[in-house]
Formats: sequence, C-alpha cells, structure tokens
Amino acid sequence: MHFSPEYFKTHFPLFAQQENRNLVYLDNAATTQKPACVIDALRDFYLHSNANTHRSSHRLARRATEMVEGVRRAAAGFLNARSPREIIFTRGATEGLNLLANSLCGTLQAGDEVVLSTAEHHANLVPWQMMAERYGLTLRFVPDARGIPQFDRIGEVLSSRTKIVSVTAGSNALGFRTDLAALRASLGDRNLYWVLDGAQLAAHDPVDVAAIGCDFFVCSAHKFYGPTGIGLVFGKEEHLRSMPPWQGGGEMIADVDLLSSAYAELPHKFEAGTSSLAGIAGLGACLEFIARQDRVAMALHEQQLQQYLHEKLSQISELHLLSNPRHNLGIVSFTHPRCAAIDLAQWLDGRDIAVRVGHHCAQPLLRAAGHTATLRASLAAYNTRADLDRFVAAVEEFLRQLDSDTDPEPGMADMT
Ligand code: PMP
Repeated sequence: MHFSPEYFKTHFPLFAQQENRNLVYLDNAATTQKPACVIDALRDFYLHSNANTHRSSHRLARRATEMVEGVRRAAAGFLNARSPREIIFTRGATEGLNLLANSLCGTLQAGDEVVLSTAEHHANLVPWQMMAERYGLTLRFVPDARGIPQFDRIGEVLSSRTKIVSVTAGSNALGFRTDLAALRASLGDRNLYWVLDGAQLAAHDPVDVAAIGCDFFVCSAHKFYGPTGIGLVFGKEEHLRSMPPWQGGGEMIADVDLLSSAYAELPHKFEAGTSSLAGIAGLGACLEFIARQDRVAMALHEQQLQQYLHEKLSQISELHLLSNPRHNLGIVSFTHPRCAAIDLAQWLDGRDIAVRVGHHCAQPLLRAAGHTATLRASLAAYNTRADLDRFVAAVEEFLRQLDSDTDPEPGMADMT
C-alpha cells in the first residue's frame, strides 16, 4: 500500500501556476483545490453538452439528461445508497440542511423536539432555529464538555417528543469524528429522523450510509475535490416519498393547475428549477477521480500528517491546542495567549502559507470553549510533511519575534 502525495498533487493545476509554486495550502476544510479532470469536465460540459435537462427532446438535452442521471447513479454508489432516487442534488451542504429542516419540520407539532449539538456548523444550526421559531419546536443540545459534544450522553436529551436528531459526522472547527456506530446504538429504534452533516467526513472517509444507518446525509462536492455549487442529500426513499417538497417551480412537478399542483416522482420532487448542470458534470469527474485513488492509503497518509502536526505544535510552549489527534479528520486548531490568531495568519500569508482564522462558522462551540477565534490548519491528501515543517517553522519564527518584541501593540493578546 503506497500513496505519494507528491504525485497526487500533480493532478492539481493550481499548484503548478507560477504564483503558486511556493504555496502551502492548509485551508482544505474550507474548500479543496480541484484536479484537472474536474476543471476539464466543467469546460467540456459547456463546450459539448450544454442544454437544459429533462425539458427538451433534442440531442443535446438528451445528452445532458443522461449525464445528470449517470452522475446521480455514481453519487448513489459513492454513498452506498440503495437507489439513485435517494440522491438529491443541491447547491451544497447548507442548501441540503435547509431542505431537510424545511421539509421535515413542517410535519411536526408545536412542542416537538429537535436535538442538535454545540459543535454544529452554523449550517446545521440556523435552519433549525428558523424552523423552531416558525413551528414552535424546542431545540435541545447533546451534553457537552466546554463545547465538545459528549455523544455518549445523548440519551439524556432524548424524549418521546424528539422527532429529529441532526448532528455533525465530523467537526469542521476541531476535526473530531463522531462515533457513528455508538450514536446509532444510543438512538436505538426510536421513531425519529437521524440527519448527519457529512460535509467534513465525506472529504476524508469512504461513506456507507447503509452501514451507518442514518436517515439523511448531506455533503458538498467542493470539500472533496469537486466543484463549488453542487452538493448531495441522501435520504431513505420511504422518507423522501412522504416528505413535502421544499422549493416549488419547474422540474419538480408532474402537473400544474392554477390552484394546485401534483409533484414529480423522486428525486425530482426536491429539485426545483435548473440545477448546476456543469457542477454535476464536475462532480461526476470528481467521483471517478476519487474512485481511482487508493482511499485507504490516502486516509492513512492524512492520518499520519495530522498526528505529526499535532505532535510538532504540542512542543511549542504556551500554544494551546483545541483539537485532538484522536479520530481526527486532519484539522488542527489552536490559540496562543499572547497573540491574535489573525496576526499570525497574516504573517503566514506573507510566507505563502494559507490557513484560516476565526470561529469557523461554529461560534457556539468556540464560545463554550472560551475562545472567539482560533487558527485552523486543515489538511488534504496533497499536503506533505514538508508543508507542515514550513508551517511549524513559520509559527515558531513569529513567536520568537513576539518574544523579542519588548513593546507589543496593545490589544494583540485578546483574541484567544
Ligand atoms: N457543515 C460543515 C461541517 C462544514 O464544514 C460546512 C462547510 N464549511 C458546511 C456544513 C457548509 O457547507 P457549504 O458551505 O458547502 O454549504
């Protein structure tokens, strides 16, 4: 079993551009770079197959329709769904979660409960807050320890009123993987919908929704080397059949009258309007690209990198690591008591090292952990130890300068 990150990186033309030759890209949890086959697929779609799907009966429309339905089959394979009817194309994980929140909550009664966790990305928090307000639902939260959800204690917040459990399969802020087998066991055979935000997990682990046993799973292609503007919702067919559509418009109907309409069959019922067709073509190329990789070796490489980075950073005095190398998706997050994360990130940017600072769209988690911002380095399979050595050396150099600076600017240290 061998994986060469250097060879893998040659598939990504951005790194071959003159201005990016020296780039260390450690912002992969925000979005990954794209391989040439994905970039080509976007261009090829417009060059050879551009037409709207389903509606017209000409050659190009047929080709575009076949492409979309082919990618849907590939996506069903990627997530191990039973049928392509269980796959809905969305703009991304955010739209997928909004679709589920809107469609599922409309069928609930006031006082019904939705269980979330403190570590949710805002995309898996705000839509449920909006629905709670609209329908009088109660939001409950998995018990946490300084923001980190203790999923083994989820039983404490489940009740006969719990109708939905929607939690992250892996944290974008701290990188932990949720123990999905244990969570499934805790949920048992309760009569509720189990939604998983898989935006980060799908970027690193093969996903098998049948083995996981969830009712719904959402993800975004751009996190796993695909284009922006396209994502997936997996939903069990029996649920999707009985759920009302979210958005109305063309494509999602079977028959329209002035006062009412009959909806299309699955999955089109949930795909109102024209989808990102080029995005779907790019996703298709991306799924083929991933299928050609040795994913076990790739995951091992990422695993070794994140352990190496945690180890290196843990040797820097005063640096406070919030992330933990155990069951980690390649995300390292830290603060330093004497410097603002933003100053360090700007220093790194000056050395062509791309990281992210802030609350990472997980404000409640950071707040509960006692921070407003962290510096996050997030890995992909094209990263190397050399990237990490440069990153760590630059952090050390910044901190050395901080130490030698006798008169630090006021306010520099309050961002932890
Ligand atoms: N959930 C998680 C865990 C994420 O990391 C992200 C992206 N940062 C999202 C949801 C939202 O994804 P998107 O912006 O692609 O809709």
